[in-house]
Amino acid sequence: MLSNRQLFSRYMGLPSVVNEPVEIVGAKGIHLYDDAGNEYIDLVSGVSVSNVGHAHTEVIEAVRKQSEQYMHLMVYGKFVQAPQVMLAERLASLLPEKLRSVYFVNSGSEAIEGAIKLARRVSGRTELIGFQNAYHGGSMGALSLLGNEHLKNAFRPLLPDTRMLQFNNIKALEQITERTACVLIEPIQAEAGIILPAPGYLEALRVRCNETGALLIFDEIQMGMGRTGKMFAFEHSSVVPDILCLAKALGGGMPLGAFISSAENMSRLTYEPELGHITTFGGHPVCCAASMAAIEVIVKNKLIEDADRKGKMFAEELIQLNGVKEIRQAGLMLGVELIDESLTDVIMHEFSLNRLIVDRFLFNPTTFRIAPPLTITDHEISKSVQLIKKCLFNAINKTKP
Ligand code: PLP
Repeated sequence: MLSNRQLFSRYMGLPSVVNEPVEIVGAKGIHLYDDAGNEYIDLVSGVSVSNVGHAHTEVIEAVRKQSEQYMHLMVYGKFVQAPQVMLAERLASLLPEKLRSVYFVNSGSEAIEGAIKLARRVSGRTELIGFQNAYHGGSMGALSLLGNEHLKNAFRPLLPDTRMLQFNNIKALEQITERTACVLIEPIQAEAGIILPAPGYLEALRVRCNETGALLIFDEIQMGMGRTGKMFAFEHSSVVPDILCLAKALGGGMPLGAFISSAENMSRLTYEPELGHITTFGGHPVCCAASMAAIEVIVKNKLIEDADRKGKMFAEELIQLNGVKEIRQAGLMLGVELIDESLTDVIMHEFSLNRLIVDRFLFNPTTFRIAPPLTITDHEISKSVQLIKKCLFNAINKTKP
């Protein structure tokens, strides 16, 4: 009989080669456990998903209760389902007046697709604007606004009439015109290596979109749900987008995405044509129940209020270390930039030897990501920092000429 590792290599479609696959058999809080009984510290949260930690009892209970009541009933939007409508109301209660209509989908990519379609319908225009080094998902629309030629090129032709701007370049905003249907932006760029907007940049973007009638879409799929020290990253600015995309942590560990806009905008998917966006599983009741529980865990335990202090605990210790060039931080989302790429290559190996789950960014080869569950304790942060220090020390020694 083949082992699970062998089955993984033989039968799974994979996006990259995994040389030594690890089988995880359990997860709790900030820890993952493998089949040999080893404990791993998760400093990535499944890429900003497990904001309330793994296997949170309240999320598990919500999933259990809802699965017993009903799971999938019918394609999206045909029946009133309490978990969906209650979650839509809860999200609306956390958002400004103009973001009151929630369209639930299955993933981040689908939220982006829905948002692009909505923007084209509302504006009646075709041009789509994105940003260099942005990541929005693997589907064709999201890929069309991905800010990296290498990842895009093999899949052309993509959507026509797209334009890519440089993030934080105010002058480039002039390229947004009356032809532009929408501007899709991460208010804090994630895969670029945690790039914060310059003061006034998002405000200038909002003004330019208002002037030209282009819809402003914020992709908060990675940064939303408390990760940056606010429930939504746009709250760090005075800007409210026309469409907000959420996913990842939204589902509390279950697959759930949403694009959110005004009721008036959203009605454009209901008429001419009817069925403007269709999804079978979007807003799955079990995922919505998990989401509701996760939001209450975040609010009740004041995880947002504490995220910035915890993020600074990491940043203040790590910035002092030899080999660290810069740290960019927003709440518990940190990009730790090292002095060169080869050191980053070696430290990644050290992290795995020390069973620390740390990840790189797609478009920033010298930076690694720290984004643990928001439930991480001060003690767990101190322990993680000690291990990162050890890894960096070893990596520097191994890269010495
Ligand atoms: N947008 C951002 C900023 C992301 O980081 C991701 C995924 O990493 C996506 C969109 C796509 O989400 P999904 O993988 O759920 O399709």
